[in-house]
Amino acid sequence: MEKRDYYEVLGLQKGASEAEIKKAYRQMAKKYHPDLNPDNPEAEAKFKEVNEANDVLSDPEKKARYDQFGFAGVDPSYGAGAGSGGSGGFGGFGGFSGGFSGGVDLGDIFDNIFGGGFTSGGSRSNPNAPRRGSDIVVSLSISFMEACKGITHDIEINRVEVCDECGGSGAKKGTSAKTCPDCHGAGKVNVRQQTMFGMMQTTKTCTKCGGKGKVIDTPCPTCGGSGVSQKKATISVNIPAGINDGQTIRLAGKGNAGTNGGSRGDLKVRISVRQDKVFERDGDNILVEVPLTYTQAALGAEIDIPTIDGSMKYTIPAGTQPGKVFTIRGKGVQHCQRNGRGDELVTVSIEVPTNLNKKQKDALQAFEDTLEDNNYSRRTNFFEKIKDLFSGKQ
Ligand SMILES: [Zn+2]
Ligand SMILES: [Zn+2]
Repeated sequence: MEKRDYYEVLGLQKGASEAEIKKAYRQMAKKYHPDLNPDNPEAEAKFKEVNEANDVLSDPEKKARYDQFGFAGVDPSYGAGAGSGGSGGFGGFGGFSGGFSGGVDLGDIFDNIFGGGFTSGGSRSNPNAPRRGSDIVVSLSISFMEACKGITHDIEINRVEVCDECGGSGAKKGTSAKTCPDCHGAGKVNVRQQTMFGMMQTTKTCTKCGGKGKVIDTPCPTCGGSGVSQKKATISVNIPAGINDGQTIRLAGKGNAGTNGGSRGDLKVRISVRQDKVFERDGDNILVEVPLTYTQAALGAEIDIPTIDGSMKYTIPAGTQPGKVFTIRGKGVQHCQRNGRGDELVTVSIEVPTNLNKKQKDALQAFEDTLEDNNYSRRTNFFEKIKDLFSGKQ
């Protein structure tokens, strides 16, 4: 059988990308898999052909040679007439029957074929690539007033830093990492495996160096060879006025150091705001309840009202009813995203006097006796309604 061009085998054009090759191989390998095509020598041959094509095209070095020199670039025996089968038909056949009777599962085979290359493929698997440091998340508790006004807080964190001693190399000072003897610096090793379809070659991450291509003979004593260490750092956190409970401040680039020259992660400070004894908050509005005396409510009064800026005078009009809410514009919390402030909402309550002595009771009764229906509009209204209810007049 004449050898077909490897790209053609995978149904691709010359110059196909790594991803296209992977995808095409996956599809073809499934299509011609012997388990899905039992007793089909043609599919079996195609399957071998597909695997051979992938073996070359998935390996950047071999692919480059193939692109330049064709089959001669990747198979020294090419042109000498023999395939890569080796020792002859019967040996190969034996291998096959062994494989099939062993009951190898289709899934296992695909895991084998795709396991290393596919899941750990791409730039993420390169341990020498710059990697961004991770984010650090901390909580910070501040007072109600601090949240309203804004404040700068210093916080202490433990974060990952590049090791001072070795500069991140992980090798003891004065020494350096050596080229890995197992993979000769490539970080990957080719593994040949006997499968039911013949010898297959896959590329795996070198276990000796973990894919770095380098090994450290004498690790740095400070970091133990990791190239990083934990250090305390004091970070100044600027908390803007108006921050609310549960909000997070992100300090870009203040997190853990990256590796291989990667950037730092972020520091995220989650703010919790402690409750206040006087004030409550509803968004950017401040809520406060002020108790009035019965007389203040009836006659009106100038009273002191607490605000987050301090105490202020406020005039309550005569005849103020309990539960009445007064709005003081602009005395709330600073808006976070725009200029201006919320309001302060003052709810008045009325305290009924207790522990009255005889004189006080007599005075109050005497006063009450002077009152008429028009002094109590709500009460009068209420009894009008009840009267209607019982007379059947609605
Ligand atoms: Zn070190
Ligand atoms: Zn290695």
